[in-house]
Amino acid sequence: MRFDNFVMTINGRKVTGGAGLDVLNPATEEVIARVPDASKAQLDEAVAAAKAAFPAWAALSMDDRRKKILAIAGRLQENKAELARIFTAEQERPHGGAEWEVDVASQWCHGVAQFDLPVEVIEDSEERRVEVRHTPIGVVGAIAPWNAPLLMAIWKMAPALLAGNCMVLKPSPFTPLTTLKLGELLLDILPPGVLNIVSGGNELGQWITDHPDIGKVSFTGSTATGKRVMESAAKTLKRVTLELGGNDAAIVLPDVDPKAIAPALFWGAFFNSAQVCVAIKRLYIHSSIYDAVARELVEFARTVTVGDGSQQGVDLGPVQNRMQFEKVKDLLDDARANGQKFLLGGEVSDSPGYFIPISIVDNPPEKSRVVTEEAFGPVLPLLKYDDLDDVIARANDSESGLGGSVWSNDVDKAREIGQRLQTGTVWINEMFAFLPNAPFGGHKQSGVGVEHGMEGLLEFTNTQTITSRRLTPVAG
Ligand code: NAD
Repeated sequence: MRFDNFVMTINGRKVTGGAGLDVLNPATEEVIARVPDASKAQLDEAVAAAKAAFPAWAALSMDDRRKKILAIAGRLQENKAELARIFTAEQERPHGGAEWEVDVASQWCHGVAQFDLPVEVIEDSEERRVEVRHTPIGVVGAIAPWNAPLLMAIWKMAPALLAGNCMVLKPSPFTPLTTLKLGELLLDILPPGVLNIVSGGNELGQWITDHPDIGKVSFTGSTATGKRVMESAAKTLKRVTLELGGNDAAIVLPDVDPKAIAPALFWGAFFNSAQVCVAIKRLYIHSSIYDAVARELVEFARTVTVGDGSQQGVDLGPVQNRMQFEKVKDLLDDARANGQKFLLGGEVSDSPGYFIPISIVDNPPEKSRVVTEEAFGPVLPLLKYDDLDDVIARANDSESGLGGSVWSNDVDKAREIGQRLQTGTVWINEMFAFLPNAPFGGHKQSGVGVEHGMEGLLEFTNTQTITSRRLTPVAG
């Protein structure tokens, strides 16, 4: 399998560049494509194009820009099969999950297109009028991770462009293909310079966060990199939205039916081979049903097929890259070295590909690495609790505060528990309920600011207050 001719989009043109970066298939570790490695001069060109395109784009009516966002939704749907094929090749999520991402990205554009940026009139009296407006920032730099390349791109692009900004978007060097293809597909929809897509390594990300002509950085990735982004952005006081890592707890109350909820808990933890920022990463189960939930989870996990995502019948692919593979392997080694018991998995074979078996750890100590560190791979610790206050304290005892979930037949009680979690999102009896009109962001070291909803849209704007005093007409 080989994909050729991937190009960047700069100022409405297809651009090649540099010696190039190899893109590997995570199941075979074979090179499947070589993509441009943008030079500093090419980034400057992309930023200059975005800056030049900005006045005309910002001057369009909201309705005109809305039509473009809807056209992007249509273009995604028209090219679903090809985008999904490229997605699976580079990311290794099996085909159904890749198509799902294209669908959600397209629906997301429809959701974002519902928004307006109304002018709020604070006062309209005889003496004066006070109004609050929201103006676009200018050039937005967007930096994305490798776990959901298309959705992460659309989550940034759709609201930023709707609000009147232009964009320079950098996909992860591990998964640039789907995003580069998207740039090509949108060439005849967006005016030159409005959306520029550049591929390259981490240094390119740093150039974006340093660039004096970029007014805002929207970043999704690890907490460690997020801190670097904020530090670099501070030099020019760029606005930042940072969507970072999580170590999300799920709390299962004693009143649930273990067999009935096992599939939802399993997929909440392991979808996309657990490479989801808000996946269940610590599963707290009441001691009265711990054994039953553990048994049902393991039984369900045994029905799930791990393999090359491009093959029929595969449910979960490998992890996406060697760096992550080594990190997850290290966590498994640590758990084994410390005598922790695996209910499933735990051993990684030497065969090619970044395959980690579904691994479920039986009640490891609360301070063990497998509990305190975000694996971002298919390793789930199950943890016992007896007391509600105690489990809430344990769930909150983390530097992360991205998401969490509570599972119970008593939805009101679950919601009360949810209100005590120090996280940006809480899901009750469901997972991954992302909505274009509901804000999403992290507390504590899981992020700064939010994406989605009106609040997310406003993060792509500056607030402008205009007060106007009516002058007394000059007599005569
Ligand atoms: P990462 O931080 O390694 O990389 C993310 C992006 O930042 C990549 O495009 C990378 O090239 C770029 N980058 C690296 N160094 C940079 C620098 N110094 N300056 C600017 N850009 C730089 O993250 P990753 O490994 O790609 O993604 C996994 C992490 O992302 C996990 O921690 C996960 O929880 C998190 N994540 C968070 C969300 C969310 O919405 N909160 C969503 C998905 C993933």
